Amino acid sequence: MRVVICGGGAIGAACAYYLTRRGTEVVVVERTGVASAASGKSGGFLALDWCDGSALEPLARRSFALHADLPGETGRDWGYRRMTTYAGVSGMKMRGRADLPWLSEAVALQGRLGTEATTAQVHPALFTQGLMAAAIDGGARLVEGEVTGLTQDAAGHVSGVRVDGEEIAADRVVLAMGPWSIRAGGWLDLPAIHAVKGHSLVYDVQDVPAEALFLEHREGDGGSASPEIFPRADGTVYACAISSEAALPDDPAATGPDPGAIERLEAMCLAISARLTPDRVIARQACFRPIAADGLPVIGLVEGWPGVHVATGHSVWGILNAPATGEAVADVISGGMSRHVDLSPFDPARLPPMRRGPARAMRRLGREGAEVERR
Ligand SMILES: Cc1cc2nc3c(=O)[nH]c(=O)nc-3n(C[C@H](O)[C@H](O)[C@H](O)COP(=O)(O)OP(=O)(O)OC[C@H]3O[C@@H](n4cnc5c(N)ncnc54)[C@H](O)[C@@H]3O)c2cc1C
Repeated sequence: MRVVICGGGAIGAACAYYLTRRGTEVVVVERTGVASAASGKSGGFLALDWCDGSALEPLARRSFALHADLPGETGRDWGYRRMTTYAGVSGMKMRGRADLPWLSEAVALQGRLGTEATTAQVHPALFTQGLMAAAIDGGARLVEGEVTGLTQDAAGHVSGVRVDGEEIAADRVVLAMGPWSIRAGGWLDLPAIHAVKGHSLVYDVQDVPAEALFLEHREGDGGSASPEIFPRADGTVYACAISSEAALPDDPAATGPDPGAIERLEAMCLAISARLTPDRVIARQACFRPIAADGLPVIGLVEGWPGVHVATGHSVWGILNAPATGEAVADVISGGMSRHVDLSPFDPARLPPMRRGPARAMRRLGREGAEVERR
């Protein structure tokens, strides 16, 4: 059986990895580059129990455990480590001393959100590329190209994907194109997948401890934002904030920051820590995360298209939930059912399909795209 996976983000890479571990022939088609979109530009923050009480709980808990195993299992290092995580407020001169040595006096911590038992991180680009490399070691083939449609056999079962005018034969197809999965809504009946843009900076600052921050920041002009700061094992510090409803570009490589957003984020970071100076910035970037109307991932078979699976809509938890998603998709394809996580809350059929045609779908992105700024 040959499975063609459309998209080389964290979700596509995890599906490829777990499918190759089950001995399945895998082809991954990626148009821009592995981890070139949100999977390379996200925070990479992981939490054991922050999804408890929601439909995501089993997926998140299983994923958190798999994240701990994957570096050893693959023999690869993508900066996985445990962290202590704090909540706080920032932006005003609140006290005479900093709560943590690397923070300024304008930060007041309010409590601990997670310990090394419950919160962790990966470098998301290295994680995605590492999983893809492990899949390739296991026999997967990576093809550069843009998927533009699917083909069916006479019985209506999927028979392949169209890539740059050619057809790649497939017995099964997995749609894992992140926010660009909305394009597939023009080929078959899928729920609408919206895209929310987020901005981020990466600083080259050594010796910041493994202390993650979730802050409510008051800006000088009366504005506010919710920066998240993640020092990484490679000596960089990642900071993100500022969501927007900007339109999703056709080409993932064309994603750039909104005017003024990077300057705002740089000012916030400088207020939070004197070590986060603009001359230390090594990446100024933006990316889109995929989200369905109810905020839950969309994982399962697509109605009316036998052999086509979808795995997207992971919103702010796509790096966390990639491993259990990939494992479950591989279980369904190779064994008929998911063994570790009940996928029924994520069934694509729970949501109405969007009407075919990308134009209508794109309009919906702007209206509903920016509802969820925080986890
Ligand atoms: C600012 C920000 C911070 C975040 N922080 C975290 C975090 O700390 N922890 C966490 O768990 N999650 C986080 N997320 C969410 C996470 O990044 C996403 O949920 C996740 O990366 C989505 O992965 P994906 O594989 O579904 O999509 P993507 O990463 O978007 O990958 C989709 C891939 O498909 C390719 N593609 C698109 N169209 C085609 C086509 N037609 N043919 C072939 N290939 C195609 C694209 O080039 C792309 O590489 C964050 C998101 C943002 C925006």
